Amino acid sequence: MSERFVVIGGIAAGMSAASRIKKVKPDSEVIVFEKGEYISYGACSMPYYISNPEGDYRDLIVLSVDDAREKRKIDVRTNHFVLGISPTEKRVFYRELISGKEKSINYDRLVIATGAFPVKPPVGGVDEDYVFSLRTLDDGIKIKEFINEKKPRSAVIIGAGYIGLEMAESFKELGLDVTIVEMLEKPMPDYNEKIISTILQTLKENGVKAFFNARVERIEDNIVYSTAGNFRADIVLLATGIKPSVKLAKDAGIELGENGAIAVDSKMETSVSGIYAAGDCAESIHRLTNRKVYVPLGTVANKHGRIAGLNAARETIRFPGVIKSAEFKLFDREVARCGLTLREAMEEGFDPVEVSITASSSAHGYRHRYPIQIAMIGDRRTGKLLGAQMIGKVGVAHRINIVATAIFNGNTVKEFSMFDLAYAPPFSPVWDPVLIAANVLSGKLK
Ligand code: NAD
Repeated sequence: MSERFVVIGGIAAGMSAASRIKKVKPDSEVIVFEKGEYISYGACSMPYYISNPEGDYRDLIVLSVDDAREKRKIDVRTNHFVLGISPTEKRVFYRELISGKEKSINYDRLVIATGAFPVKPPVGGVDEDYVFSLRTLDDGIKIKEFINEKKPRSAVIIGAGYIGLEMAESFKELGLDVTIVEMLEKPMPDYNEKIISTILQTLKENGVKAFFNARVERIEDNIVYSTAGNFRADIVLLATGIKPSVKLAKDAGIELGENGAIAVDSKMETSVSGIYAAGDCAESIHRLTNRKVYVPLGTVANKHGRIAGLNAARETIRFPGVIKSAEFKLFDREVARCGLTLREAMEEGFDPVEVSITASSSAHGYRHRYPIQIAMIGDRRTGKLLGAQMIGKVGVAHRINIVATAIFNGNTVKEFSMFDLAYAPPFSPVWDPVLIAANVLSGKLK
């Protein structure tokens, strides 16, 4: 009899795992249980789908249910909610949401890819029909439908993290009056101060009102009441972070990490042999600190899924770790980070030195030049490159990946400062901005 693999969760990590298993073991049975209606979609593109008048949610779907079933031969079961796992019986219990019937099925190997859920502030009014979170494709579709039908003119976004800032741009593009209410004293508090100043300036230039150190008290009759003032909101977006969905794993006796996500080894195997976890429900290892971290990002989820799937299918492959590379677009600026921030580096016991420079995106004499601000961090003790953050109108989003590559490979600041990078005047000065930052930092590390 062929082996049966069960995957719980059919978005990024779950479908990556299922596809890998089927590729390695084409004769095996691979069943994916997904509680929602859609699988394998690009959730990160939802702010741009919402702001695009021609945006069609189907364009976000990478692999349709039909293609997964017919082309990849994966037994995808949408609208199936998993109720429990019994590791001793090697069995999962589930409910068919359409018929309401409860059933169970045994597995040989299991991958848990249950993702994360949005955190809602503990205040009254968060369940009103004009209050949304943006996590699933269903959330994105509902927000777009609400905007098309109700034509809101004002939006209040609670939280100035990644989703809050991306959605501020999205709502503005749709002509809404946008107010952000954030409980911390600044947006993206881990970024370098000068970069945060440019983020704030960018919000101001684009007419977004942002209030910090502000506590939301309640949402009532289209008004967000907060310690920073009361704001009219035809639509409210809760962008106050996420938590890993670990209930199934926890109830099954699978260990969780200190960060609350499912604990895994470098093969993405949980504390129960033969059960793997991947994506936003699972922890990662940080390459620079060897510490377990929770980094719920699409790039990580796809890699987790691939590795969990391959190991479930009895290949041996190890996850090399993360360095928290991340970026986002804020109106006409690109903002990016990789590696450790200054605070993280200090907390991890490094002896960090940070420099902050501004260099040009293109060579002297080239007409379209824009400043790029870079903060770069190195370790005085080892000379290692630890982290970088950048903001600018062009050439940031991909440039961060040069630094990420060096950090991932464990280069010193000195080694990095002499990287042989390609150059032509429209794309960079003869000394690329990241090399200028590395040279300045190298001088400070001596
Ligand atoms: P986040 O953690 O990035 O930001 C949440 C923000 O909400 C924080 O600034 C926090 O201080 C604030 N907050 C929390 N409770 C609050 C309250 N009661 N009142 C006011 N402010 C409050 O989370 P997110 O923006 O919801 O994004 C969810 C996840 O998706 C994150 O893990 C994020 O990294 C990821 N994401 C990444 C990208 C990207 O990399 N480009 C884009 C979108 C989302």
